[in-house]
Amino acid sequence: MANLGIPQNTIDILQKYQFNFQKKYGQNFLIDPSVLERIIAAAEITREDHVLEIGPGIGTMTQYLAEAAGHVTAVEIDKALIPILQDTLSEYDNVTVIQGDILKLDVKGLMEKQSGGKPVKVVANLPYYITTPIIMGLFESNVPLKSITIMVQKEVAERMQVGPGTKDYGALSLAVQYYAKPEIVANVPPNCFIPRPTVGSAVIRLTRHEASPVQVEDEKFLFALIRASFNQRRKTLANGLSNAGELHLSRDQVTQALENLGLSPTIRGEALTLEQFAELSNSLKKA
Ligand code: SAM
Repeated sequence: MANLGIPQNTIDILQKYQFNFQKKYGQNFLIDPSVLERIIAAAEITREDHVLEIGPGIGTMTQYLAEAAGHVTAVEIDKALIPILQDTLSEYDNVTVIQGDILKLDVKGLMEKQSGGKPVKVVANLPYYITTPIIMGLFESNVPLKSITIMVQKEVAERMQVGPGTKDYGALSLAVQYYAKPEIVANVPPNCFIPRPTVGSAVIRLTRHEASPVQVEDEKFLFALIRASFNQRRKTLANGLSNAGELHLSRDQVTQALENLGLSPTIRGEALTLEQFAELSNSLKKA
């Protein structure tokens, strides 16, 4: 089968199957061999690896993954793409295509069956409309993960990577950095896709921490605290957290906990590091 990274080969397949792009599924297919090679290199794929690909499309990146990995499990929502994938991946016996919605599947159960519980690498050119739920779902699902190397909207990649004191810092930065080390490995312009997306893209690698960088007594409470802190970004933490009904905290409790940590009662969430959020969470939990 022809290399689909070459634009004319992708166009030929789209014409052969009279494929109609589904906007609702975030379908922008990669047509740049150097970007595809860069993704495979960033994910450090070897024959030892079991890869989970989310949204294989017509199988462009799947071909590159199958050449490098031990096995690839690819989950695609669009039923119209399944016969195309059977054609474009027919030469590979190390690829399993599954039709389904990655947000509804039991990914842990699927990967246990597919890889026998071995840690997996996720590699994907993600549908941008569900980037955050996919990433958070993967981390929270307890799938044994080595890394996640994904193409996402450029601004979203930046949000995952930044630290306190920047305008992009928020709940996504903290959640990602709790689980993994983020590194942007490439910026990718719209002309590397068909059809062209209206936004710039970036490839980011999230390398799972072997041990969490912070110790928290109650992970769920930490995440609720982080969400509440950024829901009301303009407010001080003392006001924002005591207003957040689901946390059941009084203004005095928050002010006291901040003081115990040597922090001003007028501080905002955007100034706190992950370590400080963890300490605040432990202190409030105790109170
Ligand atoms: N991997 C291909 C490439 O790089 O050319 C296609 C990437 S395209 C940005 C995103 C793909 O994800 C599409 O094929 C789309 O149909 C699929 N997709 C969208 N939502 C999905 C979902 N909830 N579960 C699984 N696949 C999904």
